[in-house]
Amino acid sequence: MPAKIIDGNKIAKSILENIKNKVKNMKEKPGLALVLVGNNPASEVYVNFKEKDSKEAGFYCERYNLSEETSEIDLLKLIGDLNQKESLHGILVQLPLPSHIDEKLIINSILPHKDVDGFTPLSLGNLICENMILAPATARAVIYLVESTGVRIEGKNAVVLGRSNIVGKPTAMMLLERNATVTICHSKTKYLAGYTKKADILVVAVGKQNLIRKDMVKEGAVVIDVGINRVNGKLVGDVDFENVKEVAGYITPVPGGVGPMTRAMLMDNTLKAMGLSKKI
Ligand code: NAD
Repeated sequence: MPAKIIDGNKIAKSILENIKNKVKNMKEKPGLALVLVGNNPASEVYVNFKEKDSKEAGFYCERYNLSEETSEIDLLKLIGDLNQKESLHGILVQLPLPSHIDEKLIINSILPHKDVDGFTPLSLGNLICENMILAPATARAVIYLVESTGVRIEGKNAVVLGRSNIVGKPTAMMLLERNATVTICHSKTKYLAGYTKKADILVVAVGKQNLIRKDMVKEGAVVIDVGINRVNGKLVGDVDFENVKEVAGYITPVPGGVGPMTRAMLMDNTLKAMGLSKKI
């Protein structure tokens, strides 16, 4: 039987609708700062989406479009100011930054309770200590999508492909926290199929088209495709969707899977950040 398609668009829409309804009744609105440095076209598209989502959710939003030549010190000063602004509960600096700017230094300068991307060392460290402040939106999206299937994570073999700080590692930690037995595969992993074939839950976050073929997937597995690849002007994931859906139990499409859910989780993190600001 072909896999059930996990409709990220539909789930994200209902989450955003829920947030909108909550925000409607709030006197003070959640505030989000979006910082874009330079002219990366993909980054601009992502920030446009985030701005649109936050406005539709009824948030207060400040957007900063800074030139490619912005200095590290000027960016640090801006973040320092945004950290102090009470009307802003979340700060998002769109990555990648131009090469003359130290990304780690910039991300580190965001106050942890305003770190809606969940990328600061403190946010990531808290994830490991199971003392979560704000978890990375894509990792939250993956967990939400798996849970939406009704398949229990506890006791399952979960295999995560990719070990980046922003997707692979936090996703693996969140699966572990939910009592899955987790394996992380990466660019140096030998005989990938030996791991993927054992996965009840397979999360693919690499950025290589058709990396995962039908013969690499266990029958009935939940397959979450995080990858985004642009091929002839079209977006595709890392999974050979048409063929893998013949063996998987559940599968996310690209586009329409993890992407919209990541955006929804970012809005949810901003709402959470507002709650955190009241506790400080
Ligand atoms: P990254 O480049 O930082 O990490 C890629 C990871 O893949 C690395 O850890 C590397 O070791 C691993 N890798 C490379 N080749 C491999 C192979 N043959 N087998 C197994 N692992 C391999 O990328 P990232 O930021 O983690 O993003 C991964 C993908 O997810 C990208 O395509 C990115 O565009 C996409 N992404 C999507 C969303 C979304 O919302 N849908 C969000 C973030 C990232």
